[in-house]
Amino acid sequence: MAAQPSDCIFCKIIQRQIPASIIFEDHCAVAILDVNPLASGHLLVIPKVHVNQLVDLSDSVAADVGRLLPKLGRTLLKVTGAAGFNVLQNNGEVAGQVVNHVHFHLIPRREGDSLGYRWQAGLYEDDQMRDTCESFKQALI
Ligand code: AMP
Ligand code: ZN
Repeated sequence: MAAQPSDCIFCKIIQRQIPASIIFEDHCAVAILDVNPLASGHLLVIPKVHVNQLVDLSDSVAADVGRLLPKLGRTLLKVTGAAGFNVLQNNGEVAGQVVNHVHFHLIPRREGDSLGYRWQAGLYEDDQMRDTCESFKQALI
């Protein structure tokens, strides 16, 4: 495993240097209760490897962590009785990332909760959508 910065709060949780409510652990990740939950049962799924953002994860770790999400989502629904949940994953300060160790939020949702979920959507102009689609296809070759 790569060197882990001594000031990373999630690395400290993984290494049991600070306490956390760990609800699950396997070879690639831990899942904990968020200490400042948006709703009771708000989980964080944290890969054990210290990388900053989603794009820094290897395919192999991403696959291992991704496989956990349905199981943890099912468990969250069962334990909390929530009607649904959001998966939120922030990359970069501009996107709201505060802890610079990649993680996934699983946020229980209940009818009438005040969390909201709609961002203001826009429209493409003229050929912008076609051009953007082309740019992605070229970049992925
Ligand atoms: P983000 O804004 O995506 O970086 O989210 C970081 C999350 O980590 C926030 O929801 C915090 O409440 C949560 N968090 C920070 N420190 C701890 C901790 N020691 N234990 C549990 N959750 C934490
Ligand atoms: Zn870390």
